[in-house]
Amino acid sequence: MRTQVGIVGAGPAGLMLARLLHLQGIESIIIENRSRDYIENRIRAGLIEHWAADFLADVGVGSRMQREGMPHWGINIGINGDLHRIDFKKLVNKRVTIYGQQEVVKDLVERRLSDGAPGIRTRLSVRLARHPVGESATRSRIDLFLHGSRLRALHNAIHEPRAALSSVRPR
Ligand SMILES: Cc1cc2nc3c(=O)[nH]c(=O)nc-3n(C[C@H](O)[C@H](O)[C@H](O)COP(=O)(O)OP(=O)(O)OC[C@H]3O[C@@H](n4cnc5c(N)ncnc54)[C@H](O)[C@@H]3O)c2cc1C
Repeated sequence: MRTQVGIVGAGPAGLMLARLLHLQGIESIIIENRSRDYIENRIRAGLIEHWAADFLADVGVGSRMQREGMPHWGINIGINGDLHRIDFKKLVNKRVTIYGQQEVVKDLVERRLSDGAPGIRTRLSVRLARHPVGESATRSRIDLFLHGSRLRALHNAIHEPRAALSSVRPR
């Protein structure tokens, strides 16, 4: 398969980037070294801020969150037996939504599959390499590994690894 963009990691960041690119008509491939079951069930944050909840709805992945998430318009803090209400609505007219990040991941995966976008290549590990192509130039390369064996290298896949692969984490 040929694609303009390779995204490393099917966490919330990689999946959202793929969604935003898709909305702009740019296809991408997501390469993830764990399984779909892992990414969809890994426990992460459970509080979605106001802007993020609106953003998820704007990009078409917010409907289940709006149905099943719990909006909180404030919190109560107990001090020495007294309850003190921090009223988000009155103070800033904003709420937070209690909805697990792993549920956001499920919604993004489901949306990607129902859009007919290329699926997520799981159980593939990505390593970034730079190799010299001349006296003054280096070229970037993505290497794919399956169970520790190199499958193939995608030459010229990226030119600015730091900008393009911000979601890569050292292992
Ligand atoms: C228990 C827990 C509680 C948390 N609570 C909060 C909270 O309350 N509030 C908050 O804001 N945040 C919280 N976080 C952090 C939140 O989960 C992260 O901000 C979020 O997961 C980051 O998303 P991401 O897509 O950048 O990275 P990740 O979710 O880490 O996704 C990266 C993906 O890339 C894959 N990957 C990595 N390297 C490679 C490679 N070389 N090749 C292929 N694939 C690769 C990984 O397997 C992973 O699936 C919490 C996290 C945990 C674990």
